[in-house]
Amino acid sequence: MFLIAIINLLILTGQIHNTASSPCSEVKIVNHILKWGQETTNRPRKIEAIIIHSSYNALTPDSFSLDGVLREYKAAGVTPHYIIDRQGVIYRLAPDENIAYQAGKSRLPDGHTDVNARSIGIEIINTTHDSPTEAQYVSLAKLVKCLKSEYPVKYVLGHSDIAPGRKTDPWNFDWKKFDGLLKQN
Ligand SMILES: [Zn+2]
Repeated sequence: MFLIAIINLLILTGQIHNTASSPCSEVKIVNHILKWGQETTNRPRKIEAIIIHSSYNALTPDSFSLDGVLREYKAAGVTPHYIIDRQGVIYRLAPDENIAYQAGKSRLPDGHTDVNARSIGIEIINTTHDSPTEAQYVSLAKLVKCLKSEYPVKYVLGHSDIAPGRKTDPWNFDWKKFDGLLKQN
């Protein structure tokens, strides 16, 4: 009873929104599930971390080509769960419940090294000398807010945070700006 009273109070004061305006209702996702770079699991996995990456297409003149980036993933047998193009469109490449091969040899701050099993990976299409677009920041913040509302996420980290010395992405990523967007309603 006490808990229900508290929840009602929070709803009344606007601190909890009903499902119609939940963080995930704000997010538009285009399903584009890939046939590689992921595996299903026998039991539900505990998603404790969100890992932010960046990728670009090194094979054609268009560094920002989604098809080109996906071809590179296919050649390497990898994929993140989501990729965000320069216009801010979010594509789902692997279902959340699948393990996606995105983190590689890496370590979370709590010492766990089975990072792929514990995380969701999000790629932003960007090069080492460009910056993410405003649309990408906005879409990323919406997606991360949604995922945090659905899973017991302890960490939102860059690939370079969990694989220092081996990985340098996400490149030119403004964490202050991103944190500011995350805090906005
Ligand atoms: Zn990465």
